[in-house]
Amino acid sequence: MGVKKKRERRPRESAEARTHRKPPADGAMDVRYGDEVWQGIVAHCRSVTDREVGGVLLGELRVESGRAVLWVEGYVPALRATTGAGHVTFTGEAWAEIHREIDQKHAGASVVGWYHSHPGFGVFLSDMDVFICRNFFEQPHMTALVVDPVAGDAGSFVWHEEELVRRDAPKVLPLAKEAPATTTQRLTDAAVMMLCMIGVACVVYGWLIWTGN
Ligand SMILES: [Zn+2]
Repeated sequence: MGVKKKRERRPRESAEARTHRKPPADGAMDVRYGDEVWQGIVAHCRSVTDREVGGVLLGELRVESGRAVLWVEGYVPALRATTGAGHVTFTGEAWAEIHREIDQKHAGASVVGWYHSHPGFGVFLSDMDVFICRNFFEQPHMTALVVDPVAGDAGSFVWHEEELVRRDAPKVLPLAKEAPATTTQRLTDAAVMMLCMIGVACVVYGWLIWTGN
């Protein structure tokens, strides 16, 4: 199941408007996450902030006090998905790995949706996200979780009257303001490392010359 998501850096007006303009959907299903599962998903989304990451959600639909509640009790990161600044691509290889992981570690679990990060550009579903929901996670009990690890925001989008509406998700702590500057930080780290290596090389070279005499 190859799924390609193209750039979505800017919220496309149509999709964003559709997912935010709707009033709170009283009849829509709730989505809840096991504590450890939530922490794991957030940690995955926070692990990189210069590109998107994602994966699939596992769980089951239950009825609690007459309400439909989707319980997310597992997740599988799509580690082989190729990612960029504004897109995630679930390649055939990524899906194969996800299914292998489910067979090995979550035998019998059902896929109930997918998640992905929008590092620093907000919680919404782009047109391509909606396309993925409609084509691969189209069952009424399935959800799409979007996490913005930089701003500290998350929302679970669920089907309600054939539209996707946002439901609350647990809290996400925002990353420190300097977090988006990871590339600069990495360059600085690399420069410091390089200087250290040059320093060590000089010392070794000096010692060799000295002992050579
Ligand atoms: Zn997206």
